[in-house]
Amino acid sequence: MPARTLSEKLAILSDAAKYDASCASSGGQRRDSRDGKGLGSSGGSGICHAYAPDGRCISLLKILMTNFCIYDCAYCVNRATSRVERARFSVEEVVKLTVEFYRRNYIEGLFLSSGIIRSPDDTMADMVRIARTLREQEGFRGYIHLKTIPDAAPELIDEAGRWADRLSINVEMPTEAGLNRLAPEKDAKGIRKAMAEVRLRREASREASYTGKRKARFAPAGQSTQVIVGADAADDHAILSQSTNLYANYGLSRVYYSAFSPIPDASKVLPLARPPLLREHRLYQADWLLRFYGFEVGEIASRGMLDLDVDPKLAWALENRAAFPVDVNRAAKEMLLRVPGFGTKTVQRLLAARRHRTLRYEDLAAMGAVMKHAKPFIVAAGWSPRGLTDAAALRARFAPPPEQLSLF
Ligand code: SF4
Repeated sequence: MPARTLSEKLAILSDAAKYDASCASSGGQRRDSRDGKGLGSSGGSGICHAYAPDGRCISLLKILMTNFCIYDCAYCVNRATSRVERARFSVEEVVKLTVEFYRRNYIEGLFLSSGIIRSPDDTMADMVRIARTLREQEGFRGYIHLKTIPDAAPELIDEAGRWADRLSINVEMPTEAGLNRLAPEKDAKGIRKAMAEVRLRREASREASYTGKRKARFAPAGQSTQVIVGADAADDHAILSQSTNLYANYGLSRVYYSAFSPIPDASKVLPLARPPLLREHRLYQADWLLRFYGFEVGEIASRGMLDLDVDPKLAWALENRAAFPVDVNRAAKEMLLRVPGFGTKTVQRLLAARRHRTLRYEDLAAMGAVMKHAKPFIVAAGWSPRGLTDAAALRARFAPPPEQLSLF
């Protein structure tokens, strides 16, 4: 086989990386090279771009070091038995690409993952070498997110955290049984142990030292993980329960949900029963409600699966109409957060404003509320929904009309 050019490798290995959802650079440490020392700068928060396969909005160079892999995870397009084109970057090639893209202002950082070549330690050692070379030799101050291989030696994970802004270790499946069946070479306990170690190292790096000396940085933007949705029979309740435990136990900055896309010869995975991207989207919305709106998993996924027709907060309100309408001038913060169309910022503004005056319906839109959703569920000066809250047809105002299935 003739040697591949760098651009051919880039085409294969950026396309292979598109299945990994776990990259976002929010929370990274702010670095700046406008002092003339080093190269590039990374924004402190809010950056969340990826190297899209269609070339859109390139802010992170998102690639695999290689899509060769000795493991055979049934849900993965790069598994050992998959018949895909393979390619491998050398350490120097990844460094060169990152620096060149950065200099041309195409990217703000690197998201690097990899199939497992030879052994977890060898693979992790190459990834660490890329990050170290970028930081030490190239003076690279952009964002680096490294996918960590859980079975790799602790000293390699230690070093990875020293150079990277964020580390992620994928839990992959919503349940241990699912992981055992679809990725038998992976070990759920090993994955959790590695995540716990990353958490401990991060905490240790932030503790004050007795000498007053700053401790070595360790993944300042935190750790994240990815769960593949739809490859096994786990329902949304199981997925969200797992996420709740992951946030609580490992101090994760984010759980990413990656809709499983069927692969031609993946015989062990389930055929898709629900539109995968819509399911993924609803899980992100539900995850947000659990983290910032005070909902419990059992409330929003009480039937096992989330409602695909309406967002989870609206679905909860429609099912719990006895709790509404809510008086925006009197209700507690916890209840205001449950009003469809009210975000956390809207609630903050509303609470601040009502200390000084009585809020009218017209005030709420100016505070950022989505009144189309909120209107049946609130009372304000000059507005009462009357029978609208309990109207039998209320759900139909929000849910898309049922489609006639095609006979052909
Ligand atoms: S180890 Fe990673 S790259 Fe290899 S088959 Fe499993 S999921 Fe795919």
